[in-house]
Amino acid sequence: MTGGDRLDRAAEGKGKGALMAGKRGLVLGVANDRSIAWGIASKLHRHGAELAFTYQGEAFERRVRPLAQSLGSRLVLPCDVSREADLDTVFDAVRETWDRLDFVVHAVAYSDKDELKGRYLDTSRENFAKTMTISCYSFTALARRAAPLMTDGGSLITLSYLGAQRVTPNYNVMGVAKAALETSVRYLAADMGGARIRVNAISAGPMRTLAGSAIADARFVYRWNETHAPLRRNVSLEEVGAAGLYLLSDLSAGVTGETLYVDGGYNTIGIPSPRRLKAEHD
Ligand code: NAD
Repeated sequence: MTGGDRLDRAAEGKGKGALMAGKRGLVLGVANDRSIAWGIASKLHRHGAELAFTYQGEAFERRVRPLAQSLGSRLVLPCDVSREADLDTVFDAVRETWDRLDFVVHAVAYSDKDELKGRYLDTSRENFAKTMTISCYSFTALARRAAPLMTDGGSLITLSYLGAQRVTPNYNVMGVAKAALETSVRYLAADMGGARIRVNAISAGPMRTLAGSAIADARFVYRWNETHAPLRRNVSLEEVGAAGLYLLSDLSAGVTGETLYVDGGYNTIGIPSPRRLKAEHD
């Protein structure tokens, strides 16, 4: 039994005592059951949270609606985060249905696949702006709309990756967007802390998802992390979900403006062990 399983068992059947009992939140970024947003949502649900979901467009609705319904969700809405009107419609619906919001999960990113390979130097102005709007600015746009609904305090999280801090293969403009996203987390935390609203990021290790596979050589990065991380493996959806539960629940009541690494410890490594490097190449 994993630590996560034990935590889930402890919470099961406790109703009001569950960590997220009585808490209501909005989850953006489920594309399928391998999405990080889904890992976090299912963990929150197991601990008593009530959830609303958005999907990017009709193509995703087919996958997202049954998943949302399997968690008893009443609110499942379309939302392209680059459209202000879509965001307004979502928050109007949340206000009408719930009148209060406790948390938001932002697990959304996009960049042209052709620029997630080769040189950062070749990033186009158009894709730079699009990547920033969808992958970074949307979090700020969400936070601004969520704040007035978080009348009893709240917690927002977003997803980042090590490529924000250091150069990783082919991450390019997405690394620049994630750096801006991590900085947004700190500024938002400062702006919203007075209203008891916390803002944090999870920097997840490489995971096999739709967005993850858009980055060239994703398999190499996945294997490299697995070989060289202190835990000698990649992290699971379940483990990122547990970190989400921590940051969105009162367990982290004193934590804001942070980027929490959930990557098997890989970010702490400067130079990998020569023994492991040799084993890789033999
Ligand atoms: P995913 O493909 O399952 O999720 C990405 C989501 O972004 C999809 O649901 C997609 O519909 C949504 N999206 C893209 N453009 C959108 C738009 N304009 N409007 C609304 N939604 C839009 O992949 P994932 O890996 O679960 O990605 C979730 C988050 O985690 C992203 O921010 C990603 O950068 C981050 N992340 C991923 C990894 C990884 O290795 N997969 C590692 C660290 C961080």
